[in-house]
Amino acid sequence: MLWVQSTEDLPQWGIKKGDRFPFYVVDAHHHMGRENTHQNTPPRAYEFYSLLWFELQKMASEMHDADALRFLPVEVGPVESVGRVFNIRDHWHNNSHGWLVDRTIVFPYTDDYCKHGFPENASFHVSNDRIFRWTTQAPHSLRLIGFARIDPLDDENGRPGLAVGELERAILTLGLRGLKLHPLAQLFVDQLDQPVVRGVVRRAGELGIPTLFDSRNIATVERISEMVQTIQEEQRISSRWPRVILGHCGMSPGSPRLYEFLSHPLIFGETSTLHGKDVPLLFESAHDNIHDPAHRWSEKLIFGTDYSFLSVQAADVILYLLSRDFPGDPSDIQRILAGNALSLVGRPFAPAARSRKRPRQFLLSESVSGLSVEIIQRAAETADALGWRLASLDFMRPPDGTWVSPDSFASGENGVYRDSCVMSLQRDGVLVHLWLRPQPGGGYCIGVVYVGRKHRVVTTESYAHGANESLSALLNASSMLLSSIDDLMLEIRRALS
Ligand SMILES: [Zn+2]
Repeated sequence: MLWVQSTEDLPQWGIKKGDRFPFYVVDAHHHMGRENTHQNTPPRAYEFYSLLWFELQKMASEMHDADALRFLPVEVGPVESVGRVFNIRDHWHNNSHGWLVDRTIVFPYTDDYCKHGFPENASFHVSNDRIFRWTTQAPHSLRLIGFARIDPLDDENGRPGLAVGELERAILTLGLRGLKLHPLAQLFVDQLDQPVVRGVVRRAGELGIPTLFDSRNIATVERISEMVQTIQEEQRISSRWPRVILGHCGMSPGSPRLYEFLSHPLIFGETSTLHGKDVPLLFESAHDNIHDPAHRWSEKLIFGTDYSFLSVQAADVILYLLSRDFPGDPSDIQRILAGNALSLVGRPFAPAARSRKRPRQFLLSESVSGLSVEIIQRAAETADALGWRLASLDFMRPPDGTWVSPDSFASGENGVYRDSCVMSLQRDGVLVHLWLRPQPGGGYCIGVVYVGRKHRVVTTESYAHGANESLSALLNASSMLLSSIDDLMLEIRRALS
């Protein structure tokens, strides 16, 4: 998280000069693997974030001298419970740095493993496997969210069904949580309006995952937007429509058409490549010209770095958000830095799984509160000791279409609910969601959900009762009241044994 300090009284948001509070940061565009001279791994990513923080501080001090900053960046560090989990093992602890960024959406390059085994395997089969291995075991699983990469032309150059088959494997078997498409690198710019590409994007919508396009000019953006509209005509069920992120949307911040496309409720923009004077141009134009009936303007823009193709220019974007020139409030900043990406990913790690075991629920009595950090740490230790793979830790967030109000920031609440999460654990093909929630009057509720066809935590939205009605009923029917965290750990141990 990025801790900032207010440089002035901001009574409209209940913030006083000197108040410190954290922003949660997600990098929504990041490559991992190997492509020619480019090579990136999780430890290198964290080193990059350390470098980015170093550069950002240097630039911040110049801006602060010129009295340009509303919020001065003062410190970075992990969410406390995440930092504790990184301390469980020494080699995990070695990766606990570069905490300017909390979570990173990673996907393959057009990498050196591309086309291994083709056409038996899809072009990105090996690359997607590597993303899976990096992103679904501790400690990296606490920091990375894996997206699949697909070459839609696999269907023409390999065999029919290859591309969509790989997408389904990546999402349903591996548990990756989004799709990255690159029309230029995979040479399908001219087929963007054809069924071979549209079918892949349409399937991504049906699977409930976002699609991030590399889109470096407005002509490509226009074709993507037309494709989205065609899918809307073909697919009548709105919950199955694809949500599309325009990677590098900042390459044409001066084009009025960009904001027309971003006004479409299914189209979002990601900020990598943006730098210098283009930064204020993009955000001011977005503020004035995005008219999306379903979203506030700041819900449509998403922070990303495009490391390793790009590097420290991402600091320009962060510092602009913290400057007096930014036309929004702390809630807008938090949406752009993390909230929008988390909402688009939308759900915890959950590949298809088939357990039929009944869920359990434990209530830790109301005298016990302020313990979420210890519960998360000890549950992770217990699971690790029993041979479970910690595949993800996903914090809950406000319901879709909302975010916390600007006046919650002074108290440290930024909309990423650090005391409420889903811990995803995998062992021998079994997936368990440990679902921690604070109770309204004090105390905690801990669900143990053996993920199967019927039961899973389907969303990271908090208070999403409706989505889980039958699960909630089963959990409540099995509730057991406990009075100490030791008792809770005994029960969790029993449930995972
Ligand atoms: Zn990229």
